[in-house]
Amino acid sequence: MKKTIKDFNLKNKKVIIRCDFNVPIQNGIIMDDNRIKESLKTIRYARKNGAKVILLSHLGRIKSLEDKEKYTLKPVAQRLSQLLRKKVKFINQTRGKEVEEAISEMKERDVILLENTRFEDLEGKKESNNDKDLGKYWASLADIYINDAFGTIHRNHASNVGIASNIKSAVGFLVEKEIKNLNKLINKPKKPYVIILGGSKVSDKINLIGNLITKADYLLIGGGMAFTFLKAAGFNIGCSLLEKDQISFCAKLLNDYPDKIVLPIDIITATSINDEKTKERFLGEIEDDEIGLDIGPKTVKVFKQYLDDSKTIFWNGPMGYFEIEKFASGTKNLCKIIAATNANTIIGGGDTARAVIEMGYKDKMKHISTGGGASLEFLQGSKLAALEVIDEQE
Ligand code: ADP
Ligand code: MG
Repeated sequence: MKKTIKDFNLKNKKVIIRCDFNVPIQNGIIMDDNRIKESLKTIRYARKNGAKVILLSHLGRIKSLEDKEKYTLKPVAQRLSQLLRKKVKFINQTRGKEVEEAISEMKERDVILLENTRFEDLEGKKESNNDKDLGKYWASLADIYINDAFGTIHRNHASNVGIASNIKSAVGFLVEKEIKNLNKLINKPKKPYVIILGGSKVSDKINLIGNLITKADYLLIGGGMAFTFLKAAGFNIGCSLLEKDQISFCAKLLNDYPDKIVLPIDIITATSINDEKTKERFLGEIEDDEIGLDIGPKTVKVFKQYLDDSKTIFWNGPMGYFEIEKFASGTKNLCKIIAATNANTIIGGGDTARAVIEMGYKDKMKHISTGGGASLEFLQGSKLAALEVIDEQE
C-alpha cells in the first residue's frame, strides 16, 4: 500500500501537491473547471492541517514562446482562489529567486501556484524527460511531496518521479480514489462482470483486452474496433474502419472465447460521415461503399440483456462516431442502460469519459476515471512510473 496524505503530519510543513490543472482555456477563460474541482479535497485537507501548500501542474504542451502565453496557469490561480475562498498566490516562474522568496514568506494554510511545469520543456524538455537537477531543485523547495495528478501518473516527469525520488512522498485523495476504483476491476470484481469496449482501434487496446478478458464474464464490442472482429468472423464490413494486421488477433480471441465475446448484429452506416441519409444494416447487408459508424438498435437490445443483470461494468470506447449526432445513439443508449443498473459502473478512456459527461450521465456512474491513458495503462497491468516511486506505508 502506498502512503497517502493522511500518513503525514502536515503542520507547518512545506507541501508540494502535484495537481492536474490541465483544463481547456480559451482567451484566458476556463471552459471546464472539473479537474480543478477534483483537486480541492486534497488541497483543503492540507490547509486544514496547517500545511504551506505549493501547487504544481502542467498545462498543454509547450513547444514555442507563443505556447507560453496560451498555456499560463494564471487563470487557474484565479479560479482556485474563488473555489477555496482564499487568495492563491500565483508566481509566474517555475524556479528562481522569486519562487524561493515567496515560499520562504509563506505561513500555515497559505497557497501558492507556480507556473506551468512544462515551461521547463522549452529548452531541453527538462520536465518531460525528468531532468534530474530539475526534480532535485523542486524537491528542495518542500518537506513533503503529494501526487494527486492521476492523468500523468504513468509518465516519468520531473514534477512527479523527479520530486518523489528526492523527498518523502504520498498520494492525494484523487489518486487514492482512482486506484481503489480501478483495482475493483482487477481484484475480485463482483459478478456478473461485463466489459464494453469500443473506440477507434483494436491496436490501442490489445494489452487491455488480453489482461481483462480472463476476469470478465462478457466482453461486448462496439465502435470502430468491432469491424476488425466482424471481418475476422467473416462478414463484409464495406469501408468501415479495419486494421488488417489485427485480424488474426481478433480471430484467435473469437476462437478462444466464443461464449464471452458479443459482437454487434446491426450497424448504422453511411457512405460518408457527411451523408444526410444513414442506413440500418444487419450483418451481411453492408454494401461495399458503406461505412459502419454506430451500433444499431437491435445490438443495443442485445447488449442490454447482458448489462441489466451485471454487478460490475467497465466501459472503454464509444460505440460510434458520437461526435456527430446521427451516430451518437448507440453511445447514448448505453449510457441510459448502464445508468439504470445497480452495477458498479466504471468509465475509463478520455473520449468515453467526455461522451458520458457531455451526454449528461456524469452523476449516474460510480466512477469516471480522470486519467484517459493512465487508467488504461493501469488496467492492462503496466507499472505506473510516478506511482512506483511513492513511499510505501510502514
Ligand atoms: P477512449 O479515448 O475513450 O479510449 P478511443 O480514443 O479509443 O476512446 O476512441 C474514441 C474515438 O473512436 C471517437 O473519436 C469516436 O468517434 C471513434 N469511433 C467510434 N466508433 C467509430 C466508428 N465506427 N468509426 C470510426 N470512428 C469511431
Ligand atoms: Mg481517445
